[in-house]
Amino acid sequence: MTVEDVWEKSRSIIEEKVGSNIFDLWIRPIKSVQIKDQQVTLEVPNRFFKEWIEDYYPNLMSETFEGVLGQAVAVRYKISEKEAADIKRMEARLENRKTRLANRGIYLNPRYTFDNFVTGQSNQFAQAAAKAVAENPGRAYNPLFVYGGVGLGKTHLISAIGNAVIDCRQEYNVLYVSAEQFTNEVVAAIRHSKTEELKKKYRNVDILLIDDVQFVENKVQTQEELFYTINSLYEKQQQIVISSDRPPREIKTVTDRLRSRFSMGLIADIQLPEFETRVAIIQKKATKERMELKEEVIAFIASIIKTNIRELEGCLIRLGAQSSLTGKQIDIDMAKTVLKDFLQDEDKPINIEQIQKTVCEYFGLKLQDLKARKRTKEIALPRQIAMYLCKQLTKASLSDIGKNMGGKDHATVIYACNQIEDKKTKDDNFNKMVETLLRKIKP
Ligand code: ADP
Ligand code: MG
Repeated sequence: MTVEDVWEKSRSIIEEKVGSNIFDLWIRPIKSVQIKDQQVTLEVPNRFFKEWIEDYYPNLMSETFEGVLGQAVAVRYKISEKEAADIKRMEARLENRKTRLANRGIYLNPRYTFDNFVTGQSNQFAQAAAKAVAENPGRAYNPLFVYGGVGLGKTHLISAIGNAVIDCRQEYNVLYVSAEQFTNEVVAAIRHSKTEELKKKYRNVDILLIDDVQFVENKVQTQEELFYTINSLYEKQQQIVISSDRPPREIKTVTDRLRSRFSMGLIADIQLPEFETRVAIIQKKATKERMELKEEVIAFIASIIKTNIRELEGCLIRLGAQSSLTGKQIDIDMAKTVLKDFLQDEDKPINIEQIQKTVCEYFGLKLQDLKARKRTKEIALPRQIAMYLCKQLTKASLSDIGKNMGGKDHATVIYACNQIEDKKTKDDNFNKMVETLLRKIKP
């Protein structure tokens, strides 16, 4: 058996064990394998791969190789030297691209490329579609319509198509525009009777990238112009790529014919990234910024930021800043302190004061009145409601709740809770109000 055969066989065993998702992220990128004197050396792209495999699957490699080779082997990892070179090459390409974009007046973020777009289950389909379009503009899927939530990589992905084409097909005319800017241009063109120029600009391109198209909702003239633009490009097999925060069927106030143009090619969505993908994104960015991050710090960040990749980057920037300001290494304690604002609501325990504030806001009261011994009628009921909510939503003891609500004892809190329960069953409007407050505090 050659080394290649051994590796081939081992890989399929590993893939079966870990599943294709993890396999694609962590095993497929292993660059080479050497076997010598009962030692297997795997070349990994960077030290994160080594750490990740060792942490999560400590025996996977040795067991697999032992199974395939029929004898025990030691497994070592070698960090690829290619990576440093890769980063250098990417930076050189970036400079080059920047100059070309500037010379040709194309507004496109040169950093948004396929190279630094991390894929996982959540975005694989959209990424594959985008790559196909970049390789074969006008012929693969037309239009390509990509949709997904805020900060999930729509602008990055559609820009990557533009940048890839700029890199490989110098003669191609690429145009990136946000739907907002397009709208402004349409309005200006109509006002100054320059619609011919507008047509010339948008219909003589090889690839038109339109970002955040949901912006054209309710804008009749812009929709009209967009419809004819798409038609004209489509007929000449010029590529159209569209991004949106929702699928075409949910873009309500556009004309049916425009919506049907959006749906004519391929629709691809970007979902929330899974934990593994978030980890991989953090690692990629950390490597690029030459930040030293321990596995547990990366896992911590990935566990608190779930819905927005831009926020993942925000975390890294803060940590980097903190580390260079204090001269300390980034560790888990620093991460917990620096990133406490990022803890999402579901992870943050609800406290008494937060409930009091919400109740005061709702009834137009002052926080200090609710907390003080004041006993006026306007305060009594809101205070009872606040006590009830504290009992429902916090782990605070009854006497702690009482103490914070004008120095009441725990019997008063029990009495208040019973009163509220009672009112809720008897009065539907009251019940609804309490539900509203509950939802305000815990969405
Ligand atoms: P959207 O347009 O969907 O709001 P962006 O494309 O602006 O989101 O992405 C927000 C940030 O997250 C950008 O800095 C982008 O580079 C980064 N990002 C998003 N998805 C990925 C990914 N899959 N891999 C690496 N970086 C990503
Ligand atoms: Mg965007």
